[in-house]
Amino acid sequence: MGRTAIVTGGSRGIGAAIAKALKEAGHQVAATYGGNDEAAAKFTDETGIKTFKFDVGDYDACKKGVAEVEDAMGGVGILVNNAGITRDAPFHKMTPEQWHDVINTNLTGVFNMTHNVWNGMREREFGRIVTISSINGQKGQFAQANYAASKAGDLGFTKSLAQEGAKKGITVNAVCPGYIATDMVMAVPEKVRESIIAQIPVGRLGEAEEIARCVAFLTSDDAGFITGATISANGGQYFA
Ligand code: NDP
Repeated sequence: MGRTAIVTGGSRGIGAAIAKALKEAGHQVAATYGGNDEAAAKFTDETGIKTFKFDVGDYDACKKGVAEVEDAMGGVGILVNNAGITRDAPFHKMTPEQWHDVINTNLTGVFNMTHNVWNGMREREFGRIVTISSINGQKGQFAQANYAASKAGDLGFTKSLAQEGAKKGITVNAVCPGYIATDMVMAVPEKVRESIIAQIPVGRLGEAEEIARCVAFLTSDDAGFITGATISANGGQYFA
């Protein structure tokens, strides 16, 4: 059954692959983004998927953005919290701003979006919420105290809301990707990237489409008995 789906950060990288997979699954998809208008316009040209620009870290902007999507496409049945950033630094050099930016986007952003679709899902007694956490939220990572804390927070959030949503037909799950070949990972120096690949048993970075297929399943009607789960897709790099 086709539903209205929001994919945050759906204009690039993993989010773009998710948005395309949900469209292929027959859903009406709204992809949101933060600031890169050029990438968003290119994505819409290529896919026909509408994009909406607002900051997931701003509660009022999320409220307005969700209302705009619902006016255009109907009540949201699927929310994929994918928008995320890194601001890496070893802890002794990490600034309060780097801490705040990452927590505000990756964790508070998940609250802001989920809170604004939650009551509608409760009323309609159906919802599929998937949050893209990270392998580094499971195992921690040097120079990512902010990022790992935000992504571990997403997992606690997921397990708590799964308990609250269960009786209302809302499932809440998380996917923890390992290292995926997107702008975020391609931005790290090549030497560092090679050392990352050396730690991945399957011997390669993941593809965004491999994460998208996990999300397409978790958001399908068939996945109604799966809630509070964390799916790791990391090429065998870490077993949570
Ligand atoms: P990209 O940097 O390629 O894309 C990020 C997307 O999020 C863009 O669409 C961007 O919009 C959007 N975004 C960023 N900040 C905001 C904001 N404040 N408000 C709204 N939208 C925002 O990221 P990836 O595809 O690599 O990562 C996607 C998710 O997967 C993230 O949560 C990341 O932490 C997680 N992840 C990624 C891994 C990887 O290896 N790539 C590994 C594990 C987890 P804009 O284009 O306007 O900037």
